[in-house]
Amino acid sequence: MLRLKTKLIHAGISGDPLTGAVTVPIYQVSTFKQDAPDKNRGYDYSRAGNPTRNAVEQYIADIEGGKRGLAFASGLAALSSVLMTFNAGDHFIISNDVYGGTYRVLNQVLNRLNLTSTFVDPTVIENISEAIQPNTKAIVIETPGNPFLKVVDIAALSKVAKEHDLTLIVDNTFLTPYWQNPLELGADVVFHSATKYLSGHSDVVAGLVAVKDEQLGEDIHLVQKAVGAILGPQDSYLLLRGMKTLGIRMEEHEVNTKRIAEWLTEQPQVKKVYYPGLESHPGHQLAKQQARGFGGVLSFEVDSEELAEQIIEKVKIFQLAVSLGAVESLISVPAKMTHATIPTEEQTKLGITPKLVRLSVGIEDVEDLLEDLQQAFE
Ligand SMILES: *Cc1c(COP(=O)(O)O)cnc(C)c1O
Repeated sequence: MLRLKTKLIHAGISGDPLTGAVTVPIYQVSTFKQDAPDKNRGYDYSRAGNPTRNAVEQYIADIEGGKRGLAFASGLAALSSVLMTFNAGDHFIISNDVYGGTYRVLNQVLNRLNLTSTFVDPTVIENISEAIQPNTKAIVIETPGNPFLKVVDIAALSKVAKEHDLTLIVDNTFLTPYWQNPLELGADVVFHSATKYLSGHSDVVAGLVAVKDEQLGEDIHLVQKAVGAILGPQDSYLLLRGMKTLGIRMEEHEVNTKRIAEWLTEQPQVKKVYYPGLESHPGHQLAKQQARGFGGVLSFEVDSEELAEQIIEKVKIFQLAVSLGAVESLISVPAKMTHATIPTEEQTKLGITPKLVRLSVGIEDVEDLLEDLQQAFE
């Protein structure tokens, strides 16, 4: 078995057998000439399948340890397509700290198709068991969560899911297959906003799915083909290119984030730092157990809303922007940005306040990042 860093370079389809090109070319094409009405060479129309997309699909299946991979126009297109394999009347249990867009598609779109959801804190496994209804069909979690980086026990949840015949769906965007492999921990579906670390350069919006079960893969492919929320060949190419450096990028993100997390804990104006790599984080032990790294996102709470505003105004290297996981460092205020779609009342319950700042730590020289934060705090 190849080691992960080798796999990241050689997974999926390597190069182009027709020409010997060492990278998969961009097959910018919609339709394919057939040999006969009932005979094609594996492709007939790019909504159903495209060689560049196929390369990225096989790649994610390989590196997540799945049988089938699928590439979509965005992370939310990926999740929505997975959830469209269910039927009206079915019910889902969802982490209460999922990405804001996940919350929105469940609460404003899929609910209208009578696919209902209950949001619970999944760090307490009993909360999940108690939320199971006769029509519950799936559990959707994100670990670590957002913005508090709460860690959920994937293996324990997978036991509950198996007992009740539920599909366990895990959003692995924050850790990526470089640090965490949910399918190996018992999940049925792993999905990514590949917009983030997988592409890694803030230049693509994309989503990826990997599954172990071939029939489930077929079911999701049917939705992909029928609905058509596919990743185009250009973006598939960019994503493949980005993923080859995933390993070295994740290592750098990790080193930088740890340094910044430690620095933040020493600042008197910082009330709390949320990063699973810190021993003080409630999910630290579990994170160490089920993942190989802690990722590059952290949140911290300062003592006043004014200071939070000052920091985001004064930083020069950290850029004020939503999203995460790219080479450049970003800063945001979840309450006003990524989590703005969550009603204020619900935000308060979750502890998301305007004093909370989130960083996506990039791979710049960490000394520059620390100096930037230092002058922003002053
Ligand atoms: C960004 C993000 C999504 C949504 O992905 P898009 O590519 O923006 O559709 C889902 N989950 C997490 C954890 C994210 O960060």
